[in-house]
Amino acid sequence: MRRTVHMKRTTEKEAEAKKVELLENVLKGQAMENYIEHRTSEMRHCALCDSIGYKRRPMKQVGQKWVCINCWRQIRETIDTLDRWEEEIALKEEMERTIKKGLGLQGQARKD
Ligand SMILES: [Zn+2]
Repeated sequence: MRRTVHMKRTTEKEAEAKKVELLENVLKGQAMENYIEHRTSEMRHCALCDSIGYKRRPMKQVGQKWVCINCWRQIRETIDTLDRWEEEIALKEEMERTIKKGLGLQGQARKD
């Protein structure tokens, strides 16, 4: 008998508890959604190497794009060695021109 009374009382309480639980779950879900949205807004995506970084990965914006520190280092290295690179390109072009000229002369020589 005593048990039944207890059960009746708890049923009402349980219903109330379930309502609270449901509400809490809804709020938790909302909080989670807000959190994810917040994280997404913090999320950066490197336009060059595709790496994803949150606030902790240093990134700098250029125009609409974000570029990570690793890529900036590579860019700096490239800029620092740009003169040498251009020299190498010029040398290669010069060699190609020379080779083509040589081949052209050979072709002409054969024709003659
Ligand atoms: Zn990058």
